[in-house]
Amino acid sequence: MPRDLRALPKANLHLHLTGSMRPSTAAELAGYYGLPPLPAVPIEPGVVHGWDAFQARYDTARAAVRSADDIARVVREAVEQDAADGVGWTELQVDPTSYAGWLGSLEAVVEALLDAVRGLPAGVVLAASWGAEPAHAERIAGLAVKYAPDGVLGFGLSNDERRGRVRDFVPAFRLVTDAGLGRVPHAGFYEGAWHVRECVELLGATRIGHGLTSLEDPAVVALLAERQVALEVCPTSYPPFGVASALNAVPALLADGVPVALATDDPLLFGVGMVGQYEMARQVCSDDALARIAATSLRASHAPAALKRQLLDGVQAWLSG
Ligand SMILES: [Zn+2]
Repeated sequence: MPRDLRALPKANLHLHLTGSMRPSTAAELAGYYGLPPLPAVPIEPGVVHGWDAFQARYDTARAAVRSADDIARVVREAVEQDAADGVGWTELQVDPTSYAGWLGSLEAVVEALLDAVRGLPAGVVLAASWGAEPAHAERIAGLAVKYAPDGVLGFGLSNDERRGRVRDFVPAFRLVTDAGLGRVPHAGFYEGAWHVRECVELLGATRIGHGLTSLEDPAVVALLAERQVALEVCPTSYPPFGVASALNAVPALLADGVPVALATDDPLLFGVGMVGQYEMARQVCSDDALARIAATSLRASHAPAALKRQLLDGVQAWLSG
């Protein structure tokens, strides 16, 4: 009998608020607000899509999240879903810009998120879009700092990385670095290894969302291993876009000492939760390697120390069970 991946304690470090929604919740909220139903998921094996097909679906789903109650529901359901997959700690990455129009201000969105995670094994990472004006990214980074005492864990850059220049976001990341917060930009998805290097060296990234193209340059792989910058690898996020395969990349990264965590990114778009990501990785990883990945996800998380220790003990118990 293979070990049960649900019983392996793990953290989900890369999950977007809208992308975390259950399809039934997205449909229900859309109906409530009189919005059209979501476009069909454009995922077929072997078919490569541009970013826009996914962005359209994402934008439609996001338009149905309009109140603090909606945010609380989506967060609660995301954490429940993760918990059912053995996730002991979830970090939700949210660009508050998209919701601020409905809730009244960026601050109102952040406060709704922090209320939503209170009491749950989960935390909030604020993000700006790679396509945002650098001044707006600084504004959101400033909010991450302002709300750090209330539980904001870090700051990231999401969306299509080709839309911005790394050096333009140095001031935003300086703010969160000075405050000791996590720095978690998406990088190395479309752009090459140079992009990951710039995010580590210029932005002080403490983790990288995706980052598989780092394998194109052994020096960048060595940099990630030396600084122990974890990659948040989301196996189902790559095939629809025709970018690097996680199944090729994960064993190579592990062999070179790069910390690898698995995450779900947008289950609403890609249809797969945490156990599904580990099942995919199991095609190329031993249980030892899967346990190492789970332990990395916990170590690279911002979970409270006692919880982290307890979950790490659970990883050992899973492996010796
Ligand atoms: Zn993402």
